[in-house]
Amino acid sequence: MSTTVTEGLLIAGERGEAAEGRSFEVLNPATGTHLATVAEAGVEDVNRAVAAAVTAYQQWGALSPVTRGRTMHRFANLVEEHAEQLALLECRNVGMPISDARGQLSMIIDVIRYYAGAVDKFFGNTVPVEREGVAMTFREPIGVVGLITPWNFPLNIANWKIAPALAAGNTVVLKPASLTPLSVLRYAELAAEAGLPAGALNVVPGPGGTVGGALVAHPDVGKIGFTGSTEVGAGIARAAAATIKRVTLELGGKSACVVFEDADIEKVGALAPFAVFENCGQDCCARSRLIVQRSVKDELVERYAATTAAIRVGMPELPETQVGPMISAGQRDTVEGYIATGLAEGARIVTGGDRPGGDLESGFFLRPAVLEDVTNQMTVAREEIFGPVVSVIPFDTEEQAIAIANDTPYGLSGSLWTRDGARQLRVARAMRTGVLGVNTNSSVFVQMPFGGYKQSGVGKELGMHALEHNTELKSVFISTE
Ligand code: NAD
Repeated sequence: MSTTVTEGLLIAGERGEAAEGRSFEVLNPATGTHLATVAEAGVEDVNRAVAAAVTAYQQWGALSPVTRGRTMHRFANLVEEHAEQLALLECRNVGMPISDARGQLSMIIDVIRYYAGAVDKFFGNTVPVEREGVAMTFREPIGVVGLITPWNFPLNIANWKIAPALAAGNTVVLKPASLTPLSVLRYAELAAEAGLPAGALNVVPGPGGTVGGALVAHPDVGKIGFTGSTEVGAGIARAAAATIKRVTLELGGKSACVVFEDADIEKVGALAPFAVFENCGQDCCARSRLIVQRSVKDELVERYAATTAAIRVGMPELPETQVGPMISAGQRDTVEGYIATGLAEGARIVTGGDRPGGDLESGFFLRPAVLEDVTNQMTVAREEIFGPVVSVIPFDTEEQAIAIANDTPYGLSGSLWTRDGARQLRVARAMRTGVLGVNTNSSVFVQMPFGGYKQSGVGKELGMHALEHNTELKSVFISTE
């Protein structure tokens, strides 16, 4: 591309062009028009970024956790001061409704503050052993951490990884998704302003295969934190094995919303659609299988579809918009393809699945779709669609509900709706999923571990668990014999 570069890479605290001078275009998905031109990193840039991170680590990793925590607090304050700017970038680049983008920023600030405060409360032990002396453990940073992130919640997901990695004393090279690099580039500038050493946080947008691949292969990178599809995650795990890197993977999902006949059906119908259609269904936690007891299925489908049809699909910058466009024309084509496959396999559309047209014609909009008459063996129930589509699957008994919910290679998130307390606990324990909300859509909290079972991932984000995954545990024995 020959357009002027407006957004440079961030390496060693400096924004600049890529070594090979390449760049790529980023679109506004609500209009399909040009939003920015971004420098496209290559292997040489990854090598420069890792070298900068190695240098910065000498300084940052040697600081006491207390001192690092203070700098992280300054970083959180700066992100808070720039929250509206960052939310607007996210809104324009992802097509995320501005109200959602503001909510994301609020979590981002909370997460940075959590790790700023947590890092001096996370330490080793003294351990009784059979010899005379002192045996003790230390939590130490890993060194350089390479992060690779997706486009659906670009800044929030990057921050879930960056904040604990930095607080623990590591330095970072991040490869954001090419579709959505803008917010994290600005955020990383604020980290430098907050007093993190130049090179503590480097950002190298570029193609997954080359830039991500170079990061995964680099011998000076000690850990890879990845969020994205299961297929790419599996490839990363294989490649990282060559240098025995630590790896955490947050991958795809096909989560269940299980509704029993004793649930508050009115409440489920009013709330549960938002556990699928938020961010236009582009959510790893989307409860895209609505598994409902047959005796209340018709009532729930009617209520659920009415809520879905009333969702305000619109331009993301408008405060009343609840669902914006999909990220790209290609992603919308994929989702429309899934709907067509569902219909061909016997499903029926209750509502949605069409393009809204009118003022929204040129953006990548798609109305949220509810599919009925689905079995758990159909393609729409087995594969992660990553778009605004829910499949309704009926059951008769509790055992069936659990079997259907668990009959998937994934195990990321889920919801369970029932007023029976014993059943809440029984079914919650039986569901093979990493995260579950009972009688609510909410299941993600700053303080709680987040991560998948089965092919939805390895390792946990958030809470104190993220610090475990960002540190090495050293054992030292001092003999007094
Ligand atoms: P993706 O796997 O296509 O890409 C994710 C990142 O990996 C991008 O930055 C991409 O450029 C990079 N990449 C691609 N090929 C690579 C390679 N060979 N080596 C190294 N890096 C490579 O995923 P996506 O389309 O950006 O995001 C959607 C997927 O992410 C969905 O499957 C979704 O479920 C998943 N996701 C999971 C979570 C979670 O926390 N579990 C959160 C959000 C998204």
